[in-house]
Parts: sequence; C-alpha cells; structure tokens
Amino acid sequence: MDRVRLGKSNISVSKLCFGTLTISPLQKNFSIDKGADLLKSAFDMGVTFFDTAEIYGSYPHLKRAFAGNPDVVISTKCYAYDEQTAKKSLELARQGLGRDVIDIFMLHEQESELTLQGHKKAIDYFLKMKQKGLIRSFGVSTHHVACVDAAAAHAEIEIIHPIYNKRGLGIADGSIEEMRAAIKKAHEAGIGIFAMKPLGGGHMCRTPAEAFDFVLGSSFIDAVAVGIQSEQELADNIEYFSGNREMKFASSTERKIMIHDWCTGCGTCVGACKSGAISVINGKAVVDQSKCVFCGYCGAACKDFVIKVV
Ligand code: SF4
Ligand code: SF4
Repeated sequence: MDRVRLGKSNISVSKLCFGTLTISPLQKNFSIDKGADLLKSAFDMGVTFFDTAEIYGSYPHLKRAFAGNPDVVISTKCYAYDEQTAKKSLELARQGLGRDVIDIFMLHEQESELTLQGHKKAIDYFLKMKQKGLIRSFGVSTHHVACVDAAAAHAEIEIIHPIYNKRGLGIADGSIEEMRAAIKKAHEAGIGIFAMKPLGGGHMCRTPAEAFDFVLGSSFIDAVAVGIQSEQELADNIEYFSGNREMKFASSTERKIMIHDWCTGCGTCVGACKSGAISVINGKAVVDQSKCVFCGYCGAACKDFVIKVV
C-alpha cells in the first residue's frame, strides 16, 4: 500500500484510510472486540490511517485496537465552538482513544468562512494545544465548496476532509466541478486532502472500480477515507488501492436506512441532515434515498433511536 504525505503537513499515511463510521453505533454497531479485530486486520494488511469523530462512538474500538501503537495515524473531529467545548472534545479524544497526542483534529461539518469565524475560539484553543504538542495537525471536514474555498485561505488549516465522489453526491452547495476546483486550489496551497465518501455513501457500490478510479485519479487527493464493515470489503479495497485494477470486488457496500414506526415526527433529525434528504411527512420522518449519503447523523440526533443505517 502506497504511503503518502498529507499536503505539506508532517503526517504520512496509507492512501486508504479506514473510515470507522461503518463499524460504529451509528451504522453496524460492532462490539468493541469485533470492531477492534477488523481494525487490527486492516493495520496488519498495511492500512495506517483511521478516521473517526466524536459523534461516531468508535473511540473504544480504536482504543482497543491501537492504544500505544505509534505507527497508526488517527484523525477525529468534533463540533466544538468555544474554548470550553474544544477542551472537552480534545480530552474526550485523548482519553477515548488512549493517546496522548491526536494526529489530526478537525472541526466537523464546517460550511463557510462564516462558520469558521463562528468557531474561532475553538480554533484558537486547538492551535494552542498544537503548540503544546497535544495535536499534530488541525483541519476541517466539510460537505461545502464554500468551506474548502475559505479553508484554503486560512494558514492554520493544514488538512481538509471534503466529500468528493464522481456523482457529486452529498455536496451541499455546488457541483462536483466546483468542488474539484476548490480542492485542487487548496491542495496547491499546501493543504493535505483526504476525501470522504468516494462511493457516495453506498450509491456507487455496484460500480466501485469506476467510483474509486475517479477519486484516485485526482492528483490533488492525498488519501481517501472508505467506510469498511467486513473482512471482504477490507481485502477488496486494499487490493484495489494497492494497484490491482483488474480485480473483481467480492463485497457489497450497499447501505440502507431504516426508520422505525415509533417516530414521533418531532423533526429534530431534519436539521442534522446536511444533504436535505430527510423531512417529516404526515407526522413521520421520511428519507429521500436518492439524496441520502447514509452518514447516520440523523440517527445520532434522534433521542428515540428511530433511525438506523444498516
Ligand atoms: S426520526 Fe427521531 S428525530 Fe426524526 S422526526 Fe422521528 S422521532 Fe424526531
Ligand atoms: S438522511 Fe440521515 S443518513 Fe441520510 S444523509 Fe441525511 S443525515 Fe445522513
């Protein structure tokens, strides 16, 4: 597996990043042991880069697999907006992951220059902690072209984790061409880019080679986070990322969303969906499957555990 450097940062990783949303309580809900076993298999097969988030609930799996392993790079993200929430999130990550230093710490789901300004106090705190050596690299994750554009002008942002796939699925404010241009410009400015949702959250799971070729063929993408939920998917993805473009994928990454009938129609989940895929119709949450990227964030927002991505 190729090792790549993320932009001009001092972080080198495997080109394939294991996205742990899939094994988390928001999706497959693997036990800690089962999830840790899959993560360890990935590492044994050459994957050194793992992505998580405070919201995912996969810190315990990563801690079980990799506490004390210096050869693993873990990125995480949170919704902190001031010093207090930033401090809490960083401590949660350090304790939850069992690591003194967080390799990549990002603000989750940033949208534009305005949202970056609105999170300035949190950003300042993370930069202070970077100076203290508790964070190696600071960045943002986003579904927005405007955020990639804005982040490229912020010298303190070293990593961007943007949504990027051939069909432009999940981009909240523009086309794939606009996203492509914004990412390219950010990369040229030295920012490390690791893309998310190359398969559009599962919509392109029937044509994985075509979907991966699009992302891997973009020279301004350093690494790619892929949600993995089985040993077969792991083996398939590693083989493809290692350069065997003739191989046949034996796994299926198909996802679907379940909404249980005890939904009260409160609408809380609607605000959690950046893809505009969920609405409340006749008192029940309804998902437009064509817009949904199966991130599971609506499920995390629902206090009644009504929604599940499976
Ligand atoms: S799924 Fe949950 S959050 Fe969404 S409307 Fe139903 S009860 Fe409310
Ligand atoms: S409906 Fe839920 S799972 Fe689908 S994109 Fe929106 S938040 Fe994500």
